[in-house]
Amino acid sequence: MIKKLLENSTCAQCRMCCIFDRYDVWETPLFDEITMNRVKSAVPDAEFAKKGNGYVLNVGKITGEELFSCPALAENGCILGDNKPFDCRIWPFRIMYFDGCRVIAVSSLCESVHRQSHDKLRAFLKEGLAKEIFAYADKFPEAVHEYYDNYSILLYENEIAK
Ligand code: SF4
Repeated sequence: MIKKLLENSTCAQCRMCCIFDRYDVWETPLFDEITMNRVKSAVPDAEFAKKGNGYVLNVGKITGEELFSCPALAENGCILGDNKPFDCRIWPFRIMYFDGCRVIAVSSLCESVHRQSHDKLRAFLKEGLAKEIFAYADKFPEAVHEYYDNYSILLYENEIAK
């Protein structure tokens, strides 16, 4: 979805968005039922919990320096390929609540995207992805997180033509 901004090979080498520590465990993706079942067929001991219209990984308690790896992450990358959750397909973009509005923000953890000019990222979002993201958030409101200050806000919802 964001191949124009980020090469597949860059993602494959990084995997930062698939491994979580206690600070960013809130970033684990939301799965729809089909995607959750794909993971469960490949990794039967993967545990999920219902969250609104979707499902989240049952991460348990992470303490200290412990890391939690998404069960869909294999040696060669995500086993879901192009069927990965929407959250993963758009990362490092996220939809968040900021000051009572929905916004699209970009994570500073993904240096490859975050270092690109924010004007360029805004223009890219306005080409169509922003509408898709807000439509997704309408369907899965639980995918919208409170603003986290590791993110830079790129677009407010009212900047997108309906
Ligand atoms: S579903 Fe795939 S891309 Fe998403 S966090 Fe898990 S391994 Fe990474």
